[in-house]
Amino acid sequence: MSFEFYRKLPTPQEIKNMYPVPEAIAMKKEENDKEIRKVFTGESDKFILIIGPCSADNEEALLDYTNRLKDIQEKVKDKIIIIPRVYTNKPRTTGKGYKGMLHQPDPEKAPDLLQGLITIRHLFLKIMENTGFPIADEMLYPENHRYFSDILSYVAVGARSVEDQQHRLTTSGIDIPVGMKNPTSGDLSIMLNSIEAAQAGHSFLYRGWDVETSGNDIAHAILRGAVNQYGQCIPNYHYEDLIHLYDMYIKKGFANPAVVVDTNHSNSNKQYLEQIRIAKEIMHNRKHSPELKSFVKGLMVESYIEDGAQKVGEGIYGKSITDPCLGWDKTVELINIVYGYL
Ligand code: PEP
Ligand code: MN
Repeated sequence: MSFEFYRKLPTPQEIKNMYPVPEAIAMKKEENDKEIRKVFTGESDKFILIIGPCSADNEEALLDYTNRLKDIQEKVKDKIIIIPRVYTNKPRTTGKGYKGMLHQPDPEKAPDLLQGLITIRHLFLKIMENTGFPIADEMLYPENHRYFSDILSYVAVGARSVEDQQHRLTTSGIDIPVGMKNPTSGDLSIMLNSIEAAQAGHSFLYRGWDVETSGNDIAHAILRGAVNQYGQCIPNYHYEDLIHLYDMYIKKGFANPAVVVDTNHSNSNKQYLEQIRIAKEIMHNRKHSPELKSFVKGLMVESYIEDGAQKVGEGIYGKSITDPCLGWDKTVELINIVYGYL
């Protein structure tokens, strides 16, 4: 048994100084953040699409993918705000396998955390420089958030983390929208408790500091489907699910009622091609109900260049090495369909 303190890594401030955000990019991020905030507060009725691969495994493919998205963003910008998923940390069900770019900047090589931090900052900044897009990532390790807090515009707390105190408290000090996913069990009260905790201010211990936060008024819900005790997927994107959550949300009296619906994971049972049908159903229900129209602020979609998924080492360019994703052509189809409903 061992727990080796292998090497001391730079602090977030040191990394930020080494790889600073250029002025023009910082200004664009501020502008993006304002636009996105307006959606969550209800001042804007634009629709949010958080879209991209399950994991950001390869810089070249991610730059290619986000450049393609940029062309579409131009065409739909009157109604849709695209936020690419650039997910650099992967929670693994059994702890085994690829843990994301932070651990393995090259998925075929041994972990290198320092190189991971550098590679991620480089990738984020390059995407912003090329496209001006806001960037979404999962906050899997709350203590790492500040390595990228000057870059990220959207953060998700995953299904396996949403009941965790440190995730909730850290979210309460973040000034961008943070989506709290329902846990894998599907228990909505856990997700709602998480939103309540995140919307309030707290004092706690963070990175060796005694810190105080003021609460995040745009912390909100993400529905990602659930798995029951028999391992069967229970989707939660249907009309009744959304209305039920809306009613619970209003009863709680939280600020800025909002939900983003994840079309993959346990909503599609990882039948990734179903994401188009699922998106259509949500958009239809949103049109049908004025409550849902204001409540459902966006979709989260797993999409990449190639359809499906592969194992690490197969080497197919632009194909997911974690959850299966919609390929490029079907991604364009999905975005056009969503746009058509708005
Ligand atoms: C993901 O977004 O790829 C993910 C791991 O989601 P979840 O936490 O819902 O399983
Ligand atoms: Mn995934």
